[in-house]
Amino acid sequence: MDDQREVNDDFILESVISDDYLWNNIIYKMVLLTQNSDLRKSGIYGWTLPAHWVTLSSGKKFNTCPNAGICGAFCYAKSGTYQFSNVKKAHLEKLELVLFNRAKWLNLMNEEISKPKYTGKFIRIHDAGDFFSEQYAQDWLYLAKQNPKTIFYTYTKEVELFKYKLRLSVPPNFIVIYSFGGRQDKMIDTDVDRHSDVFHDYDEMIAKGYNDIGEDDKQSAINQNHKVGLYRNNIKHFIKKMGDKNFSQWQKK
Ligand code: SF4
Repeated sequence: MDDQREVNDDFILESVISDDYLWNNIIYKMVLLTQNSDLRKSGIYGWTLPAHWVTLSSGKKFNTCPNAGICGAFCYAKSGTYQFSNVKKAHLEKLELVLFNRAKWLNLMNEEISKPKYTGKFIRIHDAGDFFSEQYAQDWLYLAKQNPKTIFYTYTKEVELFKYKLRLSVPPNFIVIYSFGGRQDKMIDTDVDRHSDVFHDYDEMIAKGYNDIGEDDKQSAINQNHKVGLYRNNIKHFIKKMGDKNFSQWQKK
């Protein structure tokens, strides 16, 4: 019995060491906040997760966008470069770091964002994925509070979470844009809430008073106009599928 426990203990110890070794290796190569040429031009850094339903390394399924609605059917992050194996791997590693090594992730993020290069700059949380839990959202609010000279912004389908549950915890340097196409669209008040919609028709987007942020994404967070217009992407099968409706209209159907 005792022998068996010793064997088990050894096994557990070995697992922990090899896990740490593995994590350190992954973290060593991980670029926490990334920039493409458009984001660089606008002074924005991005953090992202895999989109929607994900298969974890263990084989279990995990949903990073629990309140995604119709957007899931048009999701840009389910095609193109997002599906390249190296990109998928990098996004999955980030998710698993948050899920399985949260304290480490939080420390690493805080250390990273404290660097002078982020002063006065913008961090866009989630190119893909969303706030999959209240704890994860609170972690981001903590990071924003720790780094008041950096502006954090995010498009989200988690309307209830930010509009009601966490309303009083959101610091001024954390800007939320409620994004149409999710299961909580009805909670978005288009008169007062900063929000975004994806339009099938560019002229309609402008005529309805939505700001075109195509050239500078951070305008979604700082422009006086709280109506953020996103013109549909250029992916052929999505254009066909989207037809003559915006995301808000598809979700209402
Ligand atoms: S919330 Fe964003 S990432 Fe998630 S399914 Fe919708 S469009 Fe894709």
